[in-house]
Amino acid sequence: MELYDELASIVGNMYCSAKDGDCVSYARGLDPCLAEISPKIVVRPRSTEEVVEIVKCAIKYNSPILPRGGGCGLMGGVKPINNETILVDMTRMDKILNIDEDNHVVTTQAGISWSRLNAVLFDKGYYTGNMGPGSGLNAAIGGGMSHHSGGGGGCAKYGKCTDNCVGLEVVLGNGDVITLGSQASKHVLKPFVRLGHGSDLMGIFLGDNGTMGIKTTVSLKIFPKPTYFGGKTFLIKDRIYENVRDMIQEMMMKGWSKELGIYDFFFTPPPSVAGVTMDNLIKSWGDIKGGVIFYVTEAFDDRVLEANMETLEKIAKKYSTRELGPSPQQGNITDWFYGEQGHWQVYHSLFSVMGPDYFPATTEVMCPVSLMPDIIHKMDNWEREHADELLEVDAESGVSHVVMLNHNTCYIGGGLSATHDEEFKQGVIDLWKDQFRLLLESGCVLYMCGQIGSHVIVDSRYFSDEYYAFYKKIKKVCDPYNLISPGKFRF
Ligand SMILES: Cc1cc2nc3c(=O)[nH]c(=O)nc-3n(C[C@H](O)[C@H](O)[C@H](O)COP(=O)(O)OP(=O)(O)OC[C@H]3O[C@@H](n4cnc5c(N)ncnc54)[C@H](O)[C@@H]3O)c2cc1C
Repeated sequence: MELYDELASIVGNMYCSAKDGDCVSYARGLDPCLAEISPKIVVRPRSTEEVVEIVKCAIKYNSPILPRGGGCGLMGGVKPINNETILVDMTRMDKILNIDEDNHVVTTQAGISWSRLNAVLFDKGYYTGNMGPGSGLNAAIGGGMSHHSGGGGGCAKYGKCTDNCVGLEVVLGNGDVITLGSQASKHVLKPFVRLGHGSDLMGIFLGDNGTMGIKTTVSLKIFPKPTYFGGKTFLIKDRIYENVRDMIQEMMMKGWSKELGIYDFFFTPPPSVAGVTMDNLIKSWGDIKGGVIFYVTEAFDDRVLEANMETLEKIAKKYSTRELGPSPQQGNITDWFYGEQGHWQVYHSLFSVMGPDYFPATTEVMCPVSLMPDIIHKMDNWEREHADELLEVDAESGVSHVVMLNHNTCYIGGGLSATHDEEFKQGVIDLWKDQFRLLLESGCVLYMCGQIGSHVIVDSRYFSDEYYAFYKKIKKVCDPYNLISPGKFRF
């Protein structure tokens, strides 16, 4: 049998396609400039057993495999490696397998989206805490586990998506299936904790950018959703980055989420605020100028909420120019952000600030919040120094937002915006890589790497030789034929 026939016999004719029209729709990720490559065949499995058979088939025909969740990756991670690629679209694997209310854990197939999973959990009074990435209306749980995603709500309190994973089933590159976390022991019947049984082998697969295996089942912590929430929005005009850092540091010294119930803390720097107001995307902000922060806090008791809101407001007022609001119509967007799940929509408007033809070439990174002002100043300087080159390729650069995580770290969301204009693609790639280098050499860490970020890290030799040699050995153990996402990290 030929490769196509074998794959079709595994997943069924309906879910296997080599048609140009189908393949081309999987040819690129969400970026303006990386080469578009159609896969040879797209398969849409329904079960772990089918994924195992697909991997065995790939070994037999020596074909590369690319696992894909919602396809919302921004750095070339979901783009096929070459025209021989078997693209494994995981979105049919969307069954919730168990909601274990005794142990506060949900187990689900990896292809379900964050929004669908949470819609089911909401009905039972639960949520995943960290609500996934800002793309969570489409992005899948498996994608979130393959990146250290966060930012789609709740990560000031609950950390990154991967922080909440307690169980993982993975199909390795030789077709073996392993279960990681507490269920690595045959005697643990239900997943409940990530660490134990020796070394943290689950960590090899978390944030692996789809290189170490195909995640088929994920178990996540779930949390009862608090009854009360509140939030405020503030404008800052002076020493903006420094004031935001100092405000966060003071809130951290007063207990952050553990004491003050902080669920989210977002900062939008002045250029992004200007874009949003110019396009009238948040009407109630009018034509304000400056940086904007908002926070959301949640509680199970209204008196606790009131006390925490008071403490937070006192701190915020110390470092800001004025409050926006209190109502959404007057500029306080937190009711929309939290109450109406705006966290899954906010990035769409940030990305579209430049207009519908522009796509993000993001250089999103993590850094300690103490370093945040320094990093954003460096990004601003980089933009000034490269103004002519940016103009030549019809691109813009900047920091669109900063999102706090649950301890000392923040995400800095930024990078370039550019069009798909063929003439400018190489110029955009060069600038994109240059900005990555600036950030990585300034002490930042990538939380998704995809193709382009992983190449910058390896090509610029940011890993020590010993670390990279060790990393390659681990890859060889997990994927002995180097068929799963080959090329990333120069594997
Ligand atoms: C509008 C928008 C907003 C975004 N906001 C955020 C944000 O707030 N925070 C953030 O972190 N990111 C954000 N992103 C980036 C991206 O959406 C996230 O990183 C997301 O988690 C990717 O999930 P996905 O299911 O779309 O994965 P995909 O893009 O399909 O895949 C991402 C990577 O994971 C691998 N992969 C996917 N599924 C599996 C699997 N089952 N097994 C093994 N490997 C797999 C792929 O090979 C690829 O390397 C945003 C993107 C967009 C377009």
